[in-house]
Amino acid sequence: MYRSIRFTVRLGALALFATALMLTPALASGKAAKPSPDATITMLKEGNARFVAGKSIHPHSDAKRLILAGSQNQGDYAYATVITCSDSRVPVEAIFDAGIMDIFVIRVAGNVVDTDEAGSIEYGLAHVNTPVLVVLGHTQCGAVTAVTHAVHGTGHALERNIPPLVDNIQPAVEKAIAAHPEAHGDKVIPYAIEANVWQGIEDLFMTSPASRELVKSGKVKVVGAIYDVATGKVAWLDEAQTGKILTKVEASPDKAVNAMAGEKHCPKPCKKD
Ligand SMILES: [Zn+2]
Repeated sequence: MYRSIRFTVRLGALALFATALMLTPALASGKAAKPSPDATITMLKEGNARFVAGKSIHPHSDAKRLILAGSQNQGDYAYATVITCSDSRVPVEAIFDAGIMDIFVIRVAGNVVDTDEAGSIEYGLAHVNTPVLVVLGHTQCGAVTAVTHAVHGTGHALERNIPPLVDNIQPAVEKAIAAHPEAHGDKVIPYAIEANVWQGIEDLFMTSPASRELVKSGKVKVVGAIYDVATGKVAWLDEAQTGKILTKVEASPDKAVNAMAGEKHCPKPCKKD
């Protein structure tokens, strides 16, 4: 009896070991638990360092990864959501030395966070389960430059759909001008580019209770950064600033409060997940 119990225990241990072996390929392929927000930020920093040094390894870019992409849920693999500008000098996967199914990317002129972008970010954080959101501005941003010129009264006529696109940038430019009265003319643009990153984070928190909750629970970190189009380098902005913006938004009576869209916004045929 005793021997038989011991044998059963041994068999059980063997079965556990075999299960662990079977799981190993899945773990090795990246379908492990997502990295923590801090570990993800380190991965992005290391990827950018490889890119800047000309030592990119181009991970997750082969046929094996394509097969995985076609058969798996990206929510089990992608580790970061990045919103950045449409500028052709900011190729997101390249600058972080990332590959297929690694980064959930939103690109829009001036990396503004309006309704569509906030919805895309909510999808990246709540459904693709990425532990980090990077709001990535860049040097020489044409959208921020155009708005700065408009605020200075030196702008030119814009096509009809551009003003409602870039109107989110105007408060950032005005804040930069107020904070840096010594920076005349175009000299204020680099400050406006940074202010526009913070503006994007503030606009997200104002309109997205779901994003606020994910940050408050510690599941997600939101970080600001600026990409230098001349050097390839990402400059990471002060992480504490995100917390200050969140506190400010939490105190605002104008913030959105209902995290979920509700039944009436459910597209037909209604598909819930
Ligand atoms: Zn730009």
